[in-house]
Amino acid sequence: MNVLVVNCGSSSLKYQLLDMATERELAKGLFEKIGDQDAMFTHKRPDAEKLERVEPILNHKEALKILLDILVDAEYGVISSMDEIDAVGHRVVHGAEKFADSVLITPAVMDALNECAVIAPLHNPPNIQGIEACQAIMPNVPQVAVFDTAFHQTMPPEAYLYGLPYEAYADWGIRRYGFHGTSHKYVAQRCAELMGKHMSDLRIITCHLGNGSSLAAIKGGRSIDTSMGFTPLSGLIMGTRSGDIDPAIIPFLMDKTGMNYQEIDSMLNKRSGVLGISGVSNDFRVIEEAASKGHKRAQLALNMFHHKVRRVIGSFAAVMGGVDAIVFTAGIGENGIGNRDEICNGLEYLGTRLDTERNNCRGVEREISVEGSKVKIFVIPTNEEIMIARDTQRITATLIGK
Ligand code: ADP
Repeated sequence: MNVLVVNCGSSSLKYQLLDMATERELAKGLFEKIGDQDAMFTHKRPDAEKLERVEPILNHKEALKILLDILVDAEYGVISSMDEIDAVGHRVVHGAEKFADSVLITPAVMDALNECAVIAPLHNPPNIQGIEACQAIMPNVPQVAVFDTAFHQTMPPEAYLYGLPYEAYADWGIRRYGFHGTSHKYVAQRCAELMGKHMSDLRIITCHLGNGSSLAAIKGGRSIDTSMGFTPLSGLIMGTRSGDIDPAIIPFLMDKTGMNYQEIDSMLNKRSGVLGISGVSNDFRVIEEAASKGHKRAQLALNMFHHKVRRVIGSFAAVMGGVDAIVFTAGIGENGIGNRDEICNGLEYLGTRLDTERNNCRGVEREISVEGSKVKIFVIPTNEEIMIARDTQRITATLIGK
């Protein structure tokens, strides 16, 4: 069975075609700046040169048409006809409380996705556009939605409720949902495999540290707490997002500066985080470079990031009654040697012992704690696409008889 995995952002479309018999990647690529005259398209087959094009692409539907043409192209293609795409798996950011698992997309599911878009106005509409484009172009191919929030639906109410009047939850669905669930689940499963144990016997803290960052407390294979909340704005300090702040700051700033709520929202999402603190960049590589040359605010931004991650690790160890493994993943987690070192520095009371030699690695799957460390530490590159493809296969297998 071949599964096409699609991940649509507001102006981007990321894809991967996988052969599920071997879980081999047949091709992958990315459309950027969709809607612009100079939209960019990159397509890569493992055994061939990368194809890069710049051309006007009006919308996601047009991008998808280009993608399907390339997949069957004589030179760059990997399949001989569109019929060889058996199912499509879509990443959907927000499934609210309606979806605790991936789901076959039906008209009723589309209605529910549109309802979820009310609480995820930035994230769900592009996901829905991508689904509609696929439905229009491949009407007979089953489509599955895989949610970033689903894995965290196992959190207990004491972890997911905010201390607001209960009606905020009952009437408006205001609660912690958590995100990056597909990534947290994948690396936790791999961690258990690497330890030769069952997830049900482990307490794992997964650290997904990228432009957006979140931690999850996974006890017995279930997410029982996570740092992101109602939206992906909360929790850790991130590339451009503030993470947790005292909510009273918002009316205070509105009062003092005259900013309206859209301006506050934009400040919190786009001009805060390590960018706002350092004044240099949201990219950790650039901030580290500046800090190494003595830029004080760049160093402060790094210190703040490490402090917050350590703080959440400590609190998650507390809610799980201990921890057996800590996993680092995503851009910073997989590549940030110094970041991992700083974060782990001071966690020894939990039983962690980082091996600086082993930690000297980027983008590989390996244990980075010393032999015999009570709490194991791992770097595990995330693979959300394989999780989406597996769920898509599981849900559509009987339907298409493969
Ligand atoms: P997202 O998917 O959330 O956009 P990624 O998981 O791709 O983000 O992570 C991107 C971040 O990873 C970049 O901001 C960059 O700072 C960081 N990163 C990538 N490589 C390195 C590295 N070698 N050292 C430190 N940070 C890195």
